[in-house]
Amino acid sequence: MLTIKDVYFRYSSRAPMVLQGVDLTLENGEIGVLLGKNGSGKTTLFKTILGTETPDRGEMQFDGENLLRMNRRERAKRIAYVPQNIQFGALSVYDTVLMGRISYFGYRAGKEDEAAVEQILKDMQLLDFAARNVEELSGGERQKIAIARALAQEPRMLVFDEPTGNLDIANEQLILSEARRVAREKGIGILTSLHDFNQALELGDRFFFMKDGKICRTGGAEIVTEEVIREVFDAEVRIIQIEDKKVIINGGENK
Ligand code: ADP
Repeated sequence: MLTIKDVYFRYSSRAPMVLQGVDLTLENGEIGVLLGKNGSGKTTLFKTILGTETPDRGEMQFDGENLLRMNRRERAKRIAYVPQNIQFGALSVYDTVLMGRISYFGYRAGKEDEAAVEQILKDMQLLDFAARNVEELSGGERQKIAIARALAQEPRMLVFDEPTGNLDIANEQLILSEARRVAREKGIGILTSLHDFNQALELGDRFFFMKDGKICRTGGAEIVTEEVIREVFDAEVRIIQIEDKKVIINGGENK
């Protein structure tokens, strides 16, 4: 479980606070979606969780251990980052995923590392791709390789910054279903940010609305309402119910 308590952060001593008392809890195996305007602090929060930035104040724990005292390698075994635009270099899919093991093997991969990579490629139906150069793959396939590489860290949680950002609808669905599979089958928690409310509702178990560097609302799908979206995004949407699904449409009643 990830527990964040009263976290503050600013990029420099003269800059304004970007995180202003963030509180957030995510259970293992749960998918949490951060929703907030551009500039509200989502990426910055991810950076503090991953350890690329250090909070000025506050606590961060993972399964009861203090994340802020861990070095990068210790953190990487618990929390892995899936970047949106991964720079792979001209490596094969196999070697790219193997690179995810680096916090385990240092500079030379062993049999266990190879077995771990093969298992992941098999689970994700990527064995046929193993010898391909990642630079020749489509955006969706590359995103899938980024997930595979993150999983090779054997993390207990994944952080995804806008996982569907540059993808077409088929690849978007592929990545969302892969994310769900990872959370359900492996019990890995996922913390992500999404701009599309419908995708968010499809994927998320828990929602965190972020405004001005704070989480202002937390809860299940029931907290995703027209009022909350108006308050957090200054935007009008309409929510309709289609069978058991909530669907969000741009524009208010009069549009
Ligand atoms: P979001 O991901 O929600 O769009 P960010 O975390 O990227 O928000 O940005 C939050 C605020 O922090 C913004 O005001 C942004 O200008 C500022 N910011 C982001 N990165 C940096 C940086 N490297 N140096 C200084 N300020 C930054």
